[in-house]
Amino acid sequence: MALSYNIGHKNIAKIGDRTFKFRPWTTKDEKDYLIATEAEEDITDIMLFDILIRPCLEEQEVTLSVNEQKMLLIEIRKKSLGGTFPMKYTCGECKKVNDLDVKFDNIISFSPDNFSTVTIDDVTFVFGEIPSENLKARLDGIESNTEFSFVDFCLHIREIEIGGELNDTFTFEELYEFVESLPTHIFNGAFVQFQEMKSTLKFELKTYCLMCNEENIINMDSIPNFLWE
Ligand SMILES: [Zn+2]
Repeated sequence: MALSYNIGHKNIAKIGDRTFKFRPWTTKDEKDYLIATEAEEDITDIMLFDILIRPCLEEQEVTLSVNEQKMLLIEIRKKSLGGTFPMKYTCGECKKVNDLDVKFDNIISFSPDNFSTVTIDDVTFVFGEIPSENLKARLDGIESNTEFSFVDFCLHIREIEIGGELNDTFTFEELYEFVESLPTHIFNGAFVQFQEMKSTLKFELKTYCLMCNEENIINMDSIPNFLWE
C-alpha cells in the first residue's frame, strides 16, 4: 500500500479583500525552515515565502506585499501551531520578568493596501498592486533606501494620464525614466499620497504585570520567535 496523508487546503485566510486557501505546515516545511536557519544567518522575506508560505497555498502564483506576506505567515502559523506564542518581558515598574502566552490576535493591527488615483498638476497616477512576481523581483537586492522607495513607487503605477492622455502600455524602463524626468513637486506630491495608501502592520502588546499589576505596553518590530516556540 502506498502511504499517503491528505492534508488538504481546508483553511482560509482573509487579508484585506483577498482570500487565500491554505494547508498547515507539514514536517517537511518545518524541516526545510530549520535547515535554512542552520545555513543562513538571516532568513530573507523571499526565503520565508518560498519555504513557509508558497508550499501551503492552493493557488501558488500570487504576489504579496511585505505586510500581506507577514499576515499570511501568521495565519498559517496559527493553524499549524496554535494562536498563541510564548514571550518574556521585564515589567517597567517592578522590573520582574513576566512569562506569558500572547495571542496573535491581541497584538496585531493591520490596515491593508488601499490604492487609488493621485493627480498633481496635469499628471494623474493610477496606483495598484504590483502585477507580477517578475516585476516585484526588481526590488531584490536594492541596497539604497531611496532607490528602493523610488522603484517601489514606479512598480505600483498601473496607468498614467498626462495632460488628459491616457498611457497604460509602457515598459518598466520607460516608466522609470518618465518618473525621473518629472518636476520634483509632482513626484514628491504623488509619493506622499502613495505612501498613505500602503498597508501598515504593527505589533503592540498591552498587558498587566503578573507581580505588580502595572500596565505595560510593548511595541514589537516583529513578533519574537513565533515560528516554532
Ligand atoms: Zn510589575
